[in-house]
Amino acid sequence: MISEKLKSTQKQLTSNASLVAVSKTKPKEAILEAYAAGQRIFGENKTQELAQKAAILPQDIEWHMIGHLQTKKVKHIAPFVSLIHGVDSWKLLQEIDKRAEQNKRVIDCLLQIHIAQESNKFGLNEEEAEALLLPSKNLENIRIIGLMGMATFTDDKNQIRREFAGLKKTFDHLQTTHSQLQTLSMGMSGDYQIAIEEGSTMVRIGSAIFGDR
Ligand SMILES: *Cc1c(COP(=O)(O)O)cnc(C)c1O
Repeated sequence: MISEKLKSTQKQLTSNASLVAVSKTKPKEAILEAYAAGQRIFGENKTQELAQKAAILPQDIEWHMIGHLQTKKVKHIAPFVSLIHGVDSWKLLQEIDKRAEQNKRVIDCLLQIHIAQESNKFGLNEEEAEALLLPSKNLENIRIIGLMGMATFTDDKNQIRREFAGLKKTFDHLQTTHSQLQTLSMGMSGDYQIAIEEGSTMVRIGSAIFGDR
């Protein structure tokens, strides 16, 4: 069941967008089923759940932290996390850098850009992102490799498309002066086809693979 859904999702990623299988709230059996079907990148949004799963599941899984991350919780995932999607402050970047150094690692991060109409979603605007990118070059144990965004939760496909197109524009613009930006994380179960059409290089898909939560 999971492996079939995984395969049909992968087929639709006609471009070379990479797939983060969002396994939050799902048991290890579900993750192992996707793993057996070849999936290696999994995303979680709670540090404790992420750390618990990473400890018992195969070591070659790449774990992504996709949700909002609190500074005080960085230490729980710093030893192993491979990409943090939702970075939105200098304070958080500094903490990730510090914990990465303690673990003798360099941790890849994406800056979260606010593109939705809803004000409850986190994220930066382009100027704020630029203001983090410049000094981040002095932090030796983090690497900002791209941007992430979430569109408004709506049935209005034109609005979703506009929001993703806006994020792509911000990405292209920042990339002209920050060539290390290579990853554009946008698109979830309900909107990933639109996201890919608008230039996504990484989609985060949960319910379309694992079923409803
Ligand atoms: C839960 C979550 C997803 C996946 O959502 P689905 O609708 O289940 O695909 C993607 N991104 C983030 C940040 C999430 O929290």
